[in-house]
Amino acid sequence: MIAGYDPARLAGLHQRERADFRDRHPRSAALAAAAGRHLLAGVPMPWMRRWPGDFPLFVADAAQGMVRDVDGHDYVDLCLGDTGAMGGHAVPAVTATIADRAGRGATAMLPTADAAWVAAELARRFGLPMWQFALSATDANRFALRIARLATARRRIVVFDFCYHGTVDETLVTLDAGGRVVARDGAIGVPVDPALTTAVVPFNDIAALERALAAGDIACVLAEPALTNIGVVLPEPGFHDALRRLTRETGTLLILDETHTICAGPGGCTGADGLSPDLLVVGKPIGGGVPAAAYGLSATVADIVGARFAEPSIDVSGIGGTLAGNALSVAAMRAALSTTLREEDFATAIPLAERFTAGAAAVIAAHGLSWHVQRLGCRAEYWFCPPPRDGAAAAAAGDAGLEAYLHLYALNRGMLLTPFHNMALFTPYHSPSDADRHSEIFDAALTELFGP
Ligand code: PMP
Repeated sequence: MIAGYDPARLAGLHQRERADFRDRHPRSAALAAAAGRHLLAGVPMPWMRRWPGDFPLFVADAAQGMVRDVDGHDYVDLCLGDTGAMGGHAVPAVTATIADRAGRGATAMLPTADAAWVAAELARRFGLPMWQFALSATDANRFALRIARLATARRRIVVFDFCYHGTVDETLVTLDAGGRVVARDGAIGVPVDPALTTAVVPFNDIAALERALAAGDIACVLAEPALTNIGVVLPEPGFHDALRRLTRETGTLLILDETHTICAGPGGCTGADGLSPDLLVVGKPIGGGVPAAAYGLSATVADIVGARFAEPSIDVSGIGGTLAGNALSVAAMRAALSTTLREEDFATAIPLAERFTAGAAAVIAAHGLSWHVQRLGCRAEYWFCPPPRDGAAAAAAGDAGLEAYLHLYALNRGMLLTPFHNMALFTPYHSPSDADRHSEIFDAALTELFGP
């Protein structure tokens, strides 16, 4: 818990908001009760329990930047499926393509002409020449790790403390208070001691990175260009140069996971900041809502591993999947990449995130709090401390009770923030008044908690 407010006051306000939520969502409540009979934890996927309120909202419809629940309430959706709908919900050009492709066969385990178009477009955006597809960023990361191990003949990997790269065993790790690599708090059914597979380095700590790579036994560093899963922690000046130099000097491959950081622009941070990874992973929004992900390889890595992709035993190589690259997901990627997440879309969405950031920062300042709002492209996130340098510092400033209150306060007033983040993501379909409305709601919630 962070200091500065009365916990009893927070508890009272939160109770009031919970009661309001229950009163206003009878149909969601009934569906949630029925769902509990055959769905573990009452939901099809456990993260859905992390929304504020005593049960999840059940969604009726979503379009562009809005969600409507089954009780008929409309929300400005600043979660956007935790980036899965970064381009907007149900964008007509995308849904028309999806319907058309579904009507002509969704999957045949054979390529369609769209695949080469998508690969060429990803090469143009991210600068890596060779591509493969998967159905989730998790899988794309797992495949990229296997390729890195094959290419280097090394096993261990490096990740940054408090990273998140999907449900990839080797990456669900943190450093404990003694600096040892341990399974991340919450990770269940851990298959092997993660210290065997993974070294963990604090973000922005170049000296620690140098030590981790020094023995020359690390296959790859898997990194987001900025941490986005523990608030947004931006790289310090020179960090990416050092990361690239140290990986090259030690024969370590660099995998950049742009799944979230594509919010920085059409080519993610790689495109915006001129980064040059050996492999790159991108997922979630590139399918316009249809499960799809991709991973790119440099010419050098492709030359080393390419021949293995033509071997008869490739179906048991640990890479790929029956439905990966299926006609529907590839058509959806083509539609999403040609009608959303383009330069002109970011040119509209980023100023909205800037407006959100300025508004939330002004509210924080007016309440005399030492919190901050970090922005990366069309994504903005407030956090309960000054800008942290690494994931552990960000994690130390977490406050689950305060977050639950602020999220529910916003939800009850028609605005969805992302659960387990204080994140707002903007599409071109949002408007300046959406950003301003957040500032009003945020100010009201803080005024009730801290006083005017
Ligand atoms: N990489 C990053 C950076 C992510 O944030 C996530 C999910 N939040 C993933 C990968 C995994 O995506 P998915 O859950 O779609 O597999």
